[in-house]
Amino acid sequence: MKGRIWAEINLNNLINNLKIIKSFSPNNNILAAVKADAYGHGSGIISKTLAEHDVNMLGVASVEEAIKLRDEGIKSEIVILSPIPEDQIPEVVAYNFTPTVFGNIIMKWLLKEAKKQDKVVKYHIEIDTGMGRTGLDIDEIYNFINEWHREPYLVNEGIFSHLSSADTDKDYTRFQIDTFKATITRLIKNGIRFKYIHIANSAGILEYKNDSFFNLIRPGLSLYGISPFEKDFGLKPVMSLYSKILQTRKIKKGSYISYNKTYKVEKDAWFVVGAFGYGDGYPRSLSNKAQVIIDNNLYPIRGVVCMDLTMIEVDKQFSPGTIITLIDEEELHIKKLSYLADLIPYEITTGISTRVPRIVKKRSFYE
Ligand SMILES: *Cc1c(COP(=O)(O)O)cnc(C)c1O
Repeated sequence: MKGRIWAEINLNNLINNLKIIKSFSPNNNILAAVKADAYGHGSGIISKTLAEHDVNMLGVASVEEAIKLRDEGIKSEIVILSPIPEDQIPEVVAYNFTPTVFGNIIMKWLLKEAKKQDKVVKYHIEIDTGMGRTGLDIDEIYNFINEWHREPYLVNEGIFSHLSSADTDKDYTRFQIDTFKATITRLIKNGIRFKYIHIANSAGILEYKNDSFFNLIRPGLSLYGISPFEKDFGLKPVMSLYSKILQTRKIKKGSYISYNKTYKVEKDAWFVVGAFGYGDGYPRSLSNKAQVIIDNNLYPIRGVVCMDLTMIEVDKQFSPGTIITLIDEEELHIKKLSYLADLIPYEITTGISTRVPRIVKKRSFYE
């Protein structure tokens, strides 16, 4: 590979992960979370690959992310999962995005714009069953639906809620799922119909299975090959990360490595300078902690990770240009690094910065 650092995106692993998720939930619709540039993997290529495997509903966080997908030629339905500022409502309507709603204010904005553009807007209602973030309170849902369900310009397509602790707290998750189910059941008894009903994120799908599926699931992390639990379920990380050696040096006993003298060389040793740093999203909290792989051997990072460069102690002289593996599917698994860095895996992949090119491994698929 040309250049100093690159992330490899393994689409075969993405397809493997999708198969595993489908095997849990064979008959349900899938809304794939591709927000934050598909958790840092590249939303265009990920969305295209998912569409080729019959996943045609995508979840993003913002209107900007949704427009970027359209610009990349993605035709799938796009649900905007987070609240939308009023000044972006015209774009939501013009591009036929599906907003999520949780109150009268956004409905009024949408109605005004839908009439202005003379277009029908589809929306999903979010209810808060215990996440404590966005969503209507359960006891507001009847009034809300009564007020809006006959409005021809605004068409309800779904109702959903979000689990706060499906990876950590079974009782609370059961409570959220039960609350959601009871609310939906009462609404259905009152003659309200929803096309899509959904609550399951990755942890919901993998742990609560059928109880959490309703008729649509919303995987994110698991698609990218990371399990929210100890068990990996056969999921394989989609992203790996590589860099190159820029320089090899023999450094003398008693010298210090990198900023602020956090590592002192104990005996004369070989060090290499790697072409990566926190400016690439390689976490600075891995300073003096993580290992990397060079030529099939693990070597430790010494001193603090700098913005663009990081030092590694090795046992021999390497030529400049030798590849350094920073993240892989095994020894340098994203989950392992995230524990070491005191981060969650989501932060590692979304944190790989835009200056790091994403290289698609299964290239033949697209060329
Ligand atoms: C990001 C997101 C998901 C996906 O969550 P994972 O834990 O990554 O599977 C699901 N639902 C909503 C509303 C989200 O914002």
